[in-house]
Amino acid sequence: MPGFVEKPEPVEVPGLEHVHTGKVRDLYRTADGDLVMVASDRVSAYDWVLPTAIPDKGRILTRLSLWWFEQLADLVPAHVLSTDVPPGAPADWEGRVMVCRALRMIPVECVARGYLTGSGLAEYRQDRTVCGVTLPEGLVDGSELPAAIFTPATKAEIGDHDENVTYEEVARRVGTETAALLRQTTLALYTRARDIARDRGLILADTKFEFGLETGGPQDAGEGEGGEPRLVLADEVLTPDSSRFWRLEEWQPGKAQKPYDKQYIRDWLASPASGWDRHGNQPPPPLPEAVVAQTRDRYTEAYRLLTGLPWD
Ligand code: ATP
Ligand code: MG
Repeated sequence: MPGFVEKPEPVEVPGLEHVHTGKVRDLYRTADGDLVMVASDRVSAYDWVLPTAIPDKGRILTRLSLWWFEQLADLVPAHVLSTDVPPGAPADWEGRVMVCRALRMIPVECVARGYLTGSGLAEYRQDRTVCGVTLPEGLVDGSELPAAIFTPATKAEIGDHDENVTYEEVARRVGTETAALLRQTTLALYTRARDIARDRGLILADTKFEFGLETGGPQDAGEGEGGEPRLVLADEVLTPDSSRFWRLEEWQPGKAQKPYDKQYIRDWLASPASGWDRHGNQPPPPLPEAVVAQTRDRYTEAYRLLTGLPWD
């Protein structure tokens, strides 16, 4: 079973309760009930969390996510409350922490695609649809779609791979009104982000958002009282961990596009130099320094290209 070579131990912080260790992020809860998301430097490839970290990845992606939340703020509010390191937490959490409003999460991975690849391409090849959306004939790996599509998924019970579902299935699970709101919001966010990225030389092929509901009204009196629950954008947004970015100048439909951030990692792991069989059940070996450096450069480059700001 792929996953961690060695699952990291949560950090003990007085007043914080550890709730989850993801592939990349660690989650804690404050005494007030807020969520503390700590982005690590861990990186995954071929379903494994690699034994080698990418220095500063957690900080770069946290800052990128925060920047995106700002770019999208007029479309939907974000869950971020602050970036303060909670008292008693290690100093090296600085820059990697987002303290967030704990939301009632909507159990749908809200994926938008503007280009065809990955699981979307696999579905398309079977029956020319993706998540129930019919697409034109003749599309190939990396084709731009005539219009962006909402291709929701649900988290698999076991294993890592989300399962694509139709819009009707989402409507059945969360109700027609919420489903419509999810689709509309996801596509609006994607379109905004795609245009920003394209202006800066990057294709945003697809991305995943997660949303939660926050009950409005005074005293947070519960659903229905004091207003409708409000849709809030949660999790991380538009980082290379949640999205597929490609270099615009390298984009060539008809073959697999190079993954923007993990290109060097995947190339090396798949090469004889790594001595690793990705179809076997042995964990991947540590990355050579050069691959680590190249990958770190990709993250800082993405940050610089997208935000227009230097990383350091
Ligand atoms: P993976 O590492 O493959 O992403 P994972 O989803 O289990 O696995 P994380 O993404 O690190 O690991 O976990 C973050 C969890 O926090 C997710 O379950 C996400 O839905 C949840 N989450 C994100 N934002 C909020 C929020 N504001 N309130 C409540 N839960 C949230
Ligand atoms: Mg996740």
